[in-house]
Amino acid sequence: MKYIDYYETLGVPKTASDKEIKQAYRKLARKHHPDLHQGDAKAEAEEKFKLINEAYEVLGDPDKRAKYDKLGMNWKAGDEFNFDPSNMDGGYTYTYQGPSDFDLGGFGFSDFFANIFGQDFARSRQGGGRTRRANRKGEDVDAEISLTIDELIHGVEKEMYLSAPNVCAACEGQRVTQRGVCRACGGTGVTEDTKTVKVKVPAGLYPGASLRLKGLGGKGYGDGPAGDLYLHIRAAQNPSWQIDGSDLEADLMIYPDQAVLGDKVQVPTPHGQVQLKIQPGVHAGQRLRLKNKGLPKGGGTFGDLYLRIRIDIPKDQSEEERELYRKIHELRQTAKAD
Ligand SMILES: [Zn+2]
Repeated sequence: MKYIDYYETLGVPKTASDKEIKQAYRKLARKHHPDLHQGDAKAEAEEKFKLINEAYEVLGDPDKRAKYDKLGMNWKAGDEFNFDPSNMDGGYTYTYQGPSDFDLGGFGFSDFFANIFGQDFARSRQGGGRTRRANRKGEDVDAEISLTIDELIHGVEKEMYLSAPNVCAACEGQRVTQRGVCRACGGTGVTEDTKTVKVKVPAGLYPGASLRLKGLGGKGYGDGPAGDLYLHIRAAQNPSWQIDGSDLEADLMIYPDQAVLGDKVQVPTPHGQVQLKIQPGVHAGQRLRLKNKGLPKGGGTFGDLYLRIRIDIPKDQSEEERELYRKIHELRQTAKAD
């Protein structure tokens, strides 16, 4: 029989985490679902779909994956492979003791799979596996939420539309029915349902933080509890301030006289107006730091607000002002000549 490289099938490295394997599998199962294809492409998709499900049946199960990995990493897909159970470590011996009328072919698995996992697979599908799996925590859900600066600082309560995975009703999350790979869920064991959840975002969350909301994920399997919602916090773009992590940056426009002589100005910050002292001789491009006037940084602390000095000319200059600038200009010329 031919060796099948299940890692290659799912397009993941041999070091892939359980989560990466699950993600790769879901993506491929959706892409190659036979119901989404027609004609010649349908038959091709069906073959692909079967193989993807077989790969996940193995790599998605820690025991099967360990056993598969033990077969050896050096095999390449398509190599002629003779399964010799005595090569397996840990006292594993292969004797198929499943019920004789149990038809693995019905599940569309390869000879390779049937030889290596036939026994385990048959057992896991024989009631015992079903009850063991029955009461399980629902799927955890990841979602992103964009919050305004004000919402980050003060907290907010929001309604969110979520696509949350729920246990497939057709196969009860078993991914296969007696007729083969479950069509209703594409063999994923879960169906994506949209739902609205009300989330309470506390004050002081920082961009990049994750919030775990217990019980707001997918429904539990059987009597199992619902999964959790992991809300990843992002900062929404803001027209007044550029956001850099928990720091903010903005331009501060001042006039030449303020730059030369210094001044006190009122500047807006997310935490309200602040009086800022401009030192005499400030340069264009210089950054003034307003400590703790940025976004939350976690632990009740805040980032900083940076104001970049820009120097502009008043548009409504009077003749008197211009006369004084002329005077300054003359003095500059003399200074340069010296
Ligand atoms: Zn299903």
